[in-house]
Amino acid sequence: MARYVFITGGVVSSLGKGLASAALGALLQARGFSVRLRKLDPYLNVDPGTMSPFEHGEVFVTDDGAETDLDLGHYERFTGVAARATDSVSSGRIYSSVLEKERRGDYLGKTIQVIPHVTNEIKDFLTVGADEVDFMLCEIGGTVGDIEGLPFFEAIRQFGQERPRGQCIFMHLTLLPWIAASGELKTKPTQHSVKELRSIGIAPDVLVCRSERTIPEKEREKLALFCNVRPDSVIAAYDLKSIYEAPLAYHREGLDQAVLDAFGIHPAPKPNLARWDDVADRIFNPEGEVRIAIVGKYTQLEDAYKSIAEALSHGGMANRVKVRIEWVDAELFDREDPAPHLEPYDAILVPGGFGERGTEGKIKAAQFARERKVPYLGICLGMQMAVVEAARNLAGMERAGSQEFDHEAGEKRFEPVIFHLREWVKDNQTIARDVLDDKGGTMRLGAYTAHLKEGSKVAEVYGAHRIEERHRHRYEVDIRYREALEAQGLSFSGMSPDGRLPEIVEVEGHPWFIGVQFHPELKSKPFAPHPLFADFVRAAKAVSRLV
Ligand code: GLN
Repeated sequence: MARYVFITGGVVSSLGKGLASAALGALLQARGFSVRLRKLDPYLNVDPGTMSPFEHGEVFVTDDGAETDLDLGHYERFTGVAARATDSVSSGRIYSSVLEKERRGDYLGKTIQVIPHVTNEIKDFLTVGADEVDFMLCEIGGTVGDIEGLPFFEAIRQFGQERPRGQCIFMHLTLLPWIAASGELKTKPTQHSVKELRSIGIAPDVLVCRSERTIPEKEREKLALFCNVRPDSVIAAYDLKSIYEAPLAYHREGLDQAVLDAFGIHPAPKPNLARWDDVADRIFNPEGEVRIAIVGKYTQLEDAYKSIAEALSHGGMANRVKVRIEWVDAELFDREDPAPHLEPYDAILVPGGFGERGTEGKIKAAQFARERKVPYLGICLGMQMAVVEAARNLAGMERAGSQEFDHEAGEKRFEPVIFHLREWVKDNQTIARDVLDDKGGTMRLGAYTAHLKEGSKVAEVYGAHRIEERHRHRYEVDIRYREALEAQGLSFSGMSPDGRLPEIVEVEGHPWFIGVQFHPELKSKPFAPHPLFADFVRAAKAVSRLV
């Protein structure tokens, strides 16, 4: 049975709890332990799939087709452990499962209550797969004291109590604000936060304190005394230049040692941090720079394209260049010529998205990249728009478009080069969907296989003929247009195993123009950059004036 580390937060949100959890996972791995990370989110949505990227950032998709919190992306990028559907849960999912059981009569006439029914459901979730790893790291979303979070805090308290002694520890992340007027770091908010935590029966073993200034020894001792933790378990978390420094920085501050001490693991196995030393070396000693434009819709909130930004930085590490990303709002090209806006860049990436807004601009960006021979990577909607562009401007189908936009507008304006898929095959089973179905969890989701064409650019980039990538979309390129488009040099170089669904297109005779129906960014890691991103950045580097 795994040992459990529960990670909670206090004082304010957005302190980097997910990052701290992920970095701890990486450090435990560096000491030879196996880990799995898990996120418990107090909101009432069943999953983040239906939340706006403007509000909640990106939705991270797992191989087994779950739409999860973007923190699971951090977990994967730091540990390389592929997340599963059972690594993410929300109050909404817990309650809907309790209510389903109630309707089925599973509770034999009992009155259903938060304690024990909801808390039991949460505890059951915690134990899934617990025999497979040495450590299970469970992060609770939100901050201590939030109304929605209470059942989760109560459940982890009970869980800690029910396990044998020494099997669970609690790590609490807080903020030490710097008060310029008095020139002091303040510990009071942390004291209050820990008091709140203790009032619900949880005593933290490790305290991680975010601070923009060095924490003096005096304050450390004060925190230890008032919060009832050992002085060497008060861990400082300073601002970092790169998130990938976090494992090394937390190690320097003694986080992994404090955690192993709290479990009584003596002697602690020595860490091997070579992987993270190499990552840091690549980040901090680049040999040049490439500039890449991301032409998208959700450009105000960088978290909306979190994994893409990370995957590009991994591509930079693979090529020892710094990747400078500029966010360009696709709607700008509704009014203005894209050329002067896009000319400064070494490469163009058009990411995924939903809805018609901004799509004409994405089509113009694809056209610019194709005609000017600028490296182009189109992801999901970015691939679909590249196909529409080729259909309109190469194959002469002026009305080419996606059914998605006609469905939205309730009319038929476009020739549906991109069509709504109603039936497809997964693991030898046929899945059927309709336009009017629920919006949550009804897309083509999770890992699907694609076969790559012999001699194609993508086969060369991947160094393989069979790949598996993660999907999240409702619409597909219609295979009926294949012949017309291939005749114009848009090659369908990756197909689903049954040959019905185009997975990859590429422009022949172009230095680098690839569109993919899936989301390769979800599988990239700093220590194992995704081949598409590594090669895309290589192509950008080849034309960059800053190398
Ligand atoms: N909106 C498109 C679809 O549903 C693309 C989705 C995406 O980019 N993830 O097919």
